[in-house]
Amino acid sequence: MDTRAQPRHDTAAAAPSPSEVHNAAVDEDAAGQGGCAQVHLPTGGMCTLRHRHEGSCEFSPPGQADALLTERRAAEGW
Ligand SMILES: [Zn+2]
Repeated sequence: MDTRAQPRHDTAAAAPSPSEVHNAAVDEDAAGQGGCAQVHLPTGGMCTLRHRHEGSCEFSPPGQADALLTERRAAEGW
């Protein structure tokens, strides 16, 4: 009998990649300031990176998102 373990297939849906976030909305106020402003609905966090930033969104807690967005705009000169 062949007793070798079957190779694992990483096709499980347990960990969806950030690029597959479909349940997203946009905070229009933050978007109007030039932010990515994608809102992660399950947590209420908002992406405070620049609009059209590269890579995945970086969601900040709702209570901090405004301050972080303002800080980032000042630091990067949007
Ligand atoms: Zn983003």
